[in-house]
This record gives sequence, C-alpha cells and structure tokens, in this order.
Amino acid sequence: MADYSRLPGPVNDHWKWQDVAACRGLRTQVFFHPAQERGPAWRRRETEAKAICHRCPVITQCRQHALNVPEPYGIWGGLSADERRDLLRAGRSAPSEPLHAVPDTRTAG
Ligand code: SF4
Repeated sequence: MADYSRLPGPVNDHWKWQDVAACRGLRTQVFFHPAQERGPAWRRRETEAKAICHRCPVITQCRQHALNVPEPYGIWGGLSADERRDLLRAGRSAPSEPLHAVPDTRTAG
C-alpha cells in the first residue's frame, strides 16, 4: 500500500506547477513502465519520456518534487527512478539545468 504521508498534501499551491506540465494529458505508460517491459523497449520508452521532460517548462519543479518526496517510480523531471536514487545517495540536490544526456546505467534484461 502506498504511503501518502510523505506527500505534501492537497494544497493547490504545491501542485500548481503541474497545470503547465508537458506531460499533461499524455499516456502515463510513457512515464511509468508497463509490467514485463525490459531491455530495448524500456530504454526507448524512457528516452521518449525524457525528451518530453526536456521540453517541459516545469522540469525544475518536477525534478525537485520527485527528489523531495521521493517518488519511487517513473520518469520525473527528466530523471529515472535509478538516477534520482543515485542523486539522493550521493547527497546531491536536483541539478538546476536539465540533463540532456543522461547515461543509462541499467543493463538490458
Ligand atoms: S518534467 Fe516531465 S514528468 Fe515532470 S511535469 Fe514535465 S513532462 Fe511531466
């Protein structure tokens, strides 16, 4: 069961940035992997999602939110769950500039 206590709550100001998100209205399957997805299909989908993020006017807010919560799944702010986890483990905050070439360190499965 999801732990909602870590989320900032239903105050509109916390979520207002999502009104102009580039992913608004798009299929969530682009940002969250379907069950059984592996290897090239995973990488293609993440590349597509990150390309959308890198055109998004609220990438900084989204990335900061995903690191603050922290969001455990999906592409947020142009970063995968693994990339966000690596940043948090390294004790780094969100990069202020979008990462245009994020290396994929995951092995094909
Ligand atoms: S950065 Fe990506 S995931 Fe975040 S709001 Fe923008 S398009 Fe959506």
